[in-house]
Amino acid sequence: MKRVTVLGATGSVGRSTLDLIERNSEMFEVVALTAHRDVSGLSAAARRTGAQRAVIADESLLPDLRDALAGAPVEIAAGMNAVCEAARMDADWVMAAIVGCAGLKPTMAAMEAGRTVALANKESLVSAGGVMTAAARSSGVTLLPVDSEHNAVFQCFDPDQAARVRRIVLTASGGPFRGWSREAMEAITPAQAVAHPNWSMGAKISVDSATMMNKGLELIEAFHLFPVAAEQLDILVHRQSVIHSLVEYVDGSFLAQLGSPDMRTPIAHALAWPDRMAVPVERLDLAKIAQLDFEVPDPERFPAIDLARAALAAGGARPAIMNAANEVAVAAFLAGRLGFLEIAAIVSDTLSGYDPPAPETLDAVLAVDAEARAIADRRVRNRVR
Ligand code: NAD
Ligand code: MG
Repeated sequence: MKRVTVLGATGSVGRSTLDLIERNSEMFEVVALTAHRDVSGLSAAARRTGAQRAVIADESLLPDLRDALAGAPVEIAAGMNAVCEAARMDADWVMAAIVGCAGLKPTMAAMEAGRTVALANKESLVSAGGVMTAAARSSGVTLLPVDSEHNAVFQCFDPDQAARVRRIVLTASGGPFRGWSREAMEAITPAQAVAHPNWSMGAKISVDSATMMNKGLELIEAFHLFPVAAEQLDILVHRQSVIHSLVEYVDGSFLAQLGSPDMRTPIAHALAWPDRMAVPVERLDLAKIAQLDFEVPDPERFPAIDLARAALAAGGARPAIMNAANEVAVAAFLAGRLGFLEIAAIVSDTLSGYDPPAPETLDAVLAVDAEARAIADRRVRNRVR
């Protein structure tokens, strides 16, 4: 039996993870489940899986969680410290599926406790790449990439041949506005932005896919997960989302991982690793798909990619500032307070107005994150429409 914990159990990745765990209940024992505010989703999942502990991050919801789990043999707790405590519990495998930099502390807690971490929460690695990879090395933990592109690269990248890798190519669907003109993009609504053509995901990452900031975050994520230089990372728009990424070797070989666009495949890869497990995903029918398309991303309509490339090249605090400003801008867009094209503008403005020294510790990263959020928030409120 593998003992597993799911941080962010009520989200899109969390629910897909629990789907696999519940279909294979003889293989897994659930240690802890956490959520932000979704008491009913959390309590239902805890009852179904027989979880040892359920934790709600929003402290004010502790009485509701207590009511919802009355009579069930589940330990309950609330607050961010309790989420970190849950991350440290004695599990063999921890899914880090909280969205945003809010997932950083719990993910670090799991790593410092020596847990194998399946990492979906890319924002934590973007903000704290150096700090997190140092923690992984010093506690000897394995970080298993769950993001579909990084999971694909993980499956194709032979660490013994790292010096023979020429390039990593991250594929991108291009999002729902791939072919749109810049003028048309000005009026994009939150409802249009969260309707992704290929993947069903949480609201924040869906907007990131639409602006292509998601691919920018993924460039930085890949830089920290694999031993390559920033210049060896490329992006290719591939609208069918069948090839999830490629690794090119010096002899001209390209290794790629293909599959249906269903997150349960990369999640299952991380869950069963180093073994594999059966997953009820739609099998890829290449004859039916018939054709795969590729194009380079357009930097005019999707400026987020160049912002991320610059942040990665400069390093230090830049990726954390970029991520924090993007989280604030996406939340403002989803709340109807910011236009779609203003998201990248807020990120760019925040980056130009704030240049602190490189954060060397977790607390320093969190301080940069908090300050960048405050600046981005002011820019959202003061912007001239
Ligand atoms: P989601 O919004 O559907 O779920 C987020 C989860 O995090 C929920 O369980 C929520 O309760 C919890 N959460 C949110 N804010 C929190 C806070 N402040 N404190 C504690 N918990 C909090 O998001 P998602 O789409 O499942 O994405 C999760 C992560 O995985 C993101 O970092 C995303 O970029 C990454 N990811 C998602 C997909 C996907 O297909 N959804 C694919 C690749 C990577
Ligand atoms: Mg991805």
